[in-house]
Amino acid sequence: MTVIVKTPPARKATTRLLWLDLTRKCQLACGHCYNSSGPSGSHGTMTREDWVGVLDQAAACGVRGVQFIGGEPTMHPDFTALVDHALNAGLEVEVYSNLVHVSQECWEIFQRKGLALATSYYSDRAETHNAMTGRRSHGRTRENIARAVRLGIPLRVGVVTGDEDQAAGARRDLEALGVERIGVDHVRPFGRGGQGRVPDTAKLCGRCGSGVAAIGPTGEVSPCVFSGWMGVGNVRHTPLAAILSGDAMTRATTAIQGAAGRNAPCGPDDEECTPGFPGSSCSPRN
Ligand code: SF4
Repeated sequence: MTVIVKTPPARKATTRLLWLDLTRKCQLACGHCYNSSGPSGSHGTMTREDWVGVLDQAAACGVRGVQFIGGEPTMHPDFTALVDHALNAGLEVEVYSNLVHVSQECWEIFQRKGLALATSYYSDRAETHNAMTGRRSHGRTRENIARAVRLGIPLRVGVVTGDEDQAAGARRDLEALGVERIGVDHVRPFGRGGQGRVPDTAKLCGRCGSGVAAIGPTGEVSPCVFSGWMGVGNVRHTPLAAILSGDAMTRATTAIQGAAGRNAPCGPDDEECTPGFPGSSCSPRN
């Protein structure tokens, strides 16, 4: 008897959002950081030309938006040049920054059309916020949130806490500053947030890799920023479109869907995991 094995149709590259995870360097060392970034983190092995190539390929293969993240993406030496390149390529850009230090050059590029900002906030109380970030960062982040609002830069803020009263206080404070887009989310069990536990596919939201993908500081592509250990190819030696539509990506997303359950909510608001370019509400810092 002949057994006919049906070959699944080739997966189309339907990725709409790419997280450009530029660096593991950050001024802070937040207790919940999903990729354990911090002051001793590195910018990885991707060169400026590598990142420019990724942006050009992304625009050519139908990606609509990119989110610059890390680590603290503004600390990457090529940050403003890459944002400029992305905007010029017609991509929507969101920058997820801790807003601790914003240079004049960054403020200028943040005001470009097509760019939006996102940040995390932990409490209206400085000592509580600082206990999470590991530095006295509350005043600077709060000041820069207010400045972004005054400048009319589109901004969304993710409040990360499991404490309802703390979330309510942070929300009131942000609303008083004029922030309109506020989400509340929990700590994800990855990186420092995992407190030493091995990353568990079942803890992902289940939609990773569906229309989204992340590229890390070494060029490794994964289904999302939280699933960095599930590498599916490297843009330094494989074209981006081939990785996004490749078998390894299909296997990874299928495994995630199987373990986590497709469409399982990953935040109390559910909307939190509609990952991220302008217009969405993902808070991948968490
Ligand atoms: S969560 Fe963000 S701000 Fe905090 S250490 Fe990680 S990258 Fe830096």
